[in-house]
Amino acid sequence: MRKNYLLTPGPTSVPSDVLLELAKPIVHHRTPQFAEIFHSVSEGLKYVFQTKNDVLVFASSGTGAMEASVVNLLSPGDKVLTIKGGKFGERWDEICKAYNIETFPIDVEWGKPVNPDDVRNILEKEKGIKAVFATLTETSTAVVHDIKTLGSIVKEFPAVLVVDAVSGLGAVDIQTDNWNVDVVVAGSQKALMLPPGLAFASVSNKAWDLAENSKCPKYYWNFAKARKSLKTDQTPYTPAVSLVVGLSKSLEMIKEEGLENVLARHSKLAKATRAAVGAMGLELFAPQSPSDAVTAIKVPEGIDGVGLVKTLKKKYDVMITGGQAQLKGKIIRIAHMGYSDTFDIIIVISALEMALVSLGYNLELGNGIKAAEEVLK
Ligand code: PMP
Repeated sequence: MRKNYLLTPGPTSVPSDVLLELAKPIVHHRTPQFAEIFHSVSEGLKYVFQTKNDVLVFASSGTGAMEASVVNLLSPGDKVLTIKGGKFGERWDEICKAYNIETFPIDVEWGKPVNPDDVRNILEKEKGIKAVFATLTETSTAVVHDIKTLGSIVKEFPAVLVVDAVSGLGAVDIQTDNWNVDVVVAGSQKALMLPPGLAFASVSNKAWDLAENSKCPKYYWNFAKARKSLKTDQTPYTPAVSLVVGLSKSLEMIKEEGLENVLARHSKLAKATRAAVGAMGLELFAPQSPSDAVTAIKVPEGIDGVGLVKTLKKKYDVMITGGQAQLKGKIIRIAHMGYSDTFDIIIVISALEMALVSLGYNLELGNGIKAAEEVLK
């Protein structure tokens, strides 16, 4: 018998209470029964997004809602600012370019957060920028960006602020309304404790105004149609019924724990992971602004990073991820988002210690666990 431990930054493990909901017989979506569930889901999403704005729901992965944001807000030829600095920040730039939108990218060094002054400078210099595309937690580098400060800057300009919170929502604080974030995009398979397949976008009044003049082609990804259907607790097209039913359970769990406590739990787990990293003689990849959703660790010299991830899986059935793109083989990433608790951290640190020792890394077994326990106790 082998027991699997999933500690990747998406998909994440799903609580059994949610799995049981997913296993229920399908409800037809054009029924009062589904409308009632969808209504409670919409309200629950507003709570987690910390917004009074409508949160639109799509059957897709997170990238779908990213593309939807671009095509609903903009027109070909528009100017936008994109904050790069990781695979997902770069994705904003790639999507915009696919629609012939002119991008002014800030090429943040991977592992660092954006300097908000750079955003202000570009907005002041380049008149007519319609949108700023940012990322809450850059999953590829484990950096958290300062969305609160970005919101306070962008609100002084006509541009809207669009934030990819696919891996951040429910793990890291994002106060959509208080921080003036116009569009927040999220996905189901991270801190929302569901399988992949749902994507979300909250849309502010400023963003709806911009959307009115958008000329990018769109059909399925039509925000206005989704908003119209939402008024009757429906979606324009067939929703991912089972995932919506599952979401109603996971949102209920988040509400029961309380969002503040959920965020505090993530913060503690991340702190314990970082403490263990130091105690094992390893280095964080992004020490300046580390995310509480995922931790990136530099692979120590002499160790094969790809082999380390494989060893964890093969020997201990602990699944974490390595680096993406130019970070392949150079970092490993441990997620502590969603359905994640004290002993997930103990397990992954223990497995990491054993795997490193088996690969010849000089380490006193138990140092990492002890440091984690000191935080978690
Ligand atoms: N943005 C971020 C920050 C992510 O972590 C991910 C998924 N890893 C995405 C966007 C893309 O989401 P998906 O793979 O669900 O399309």
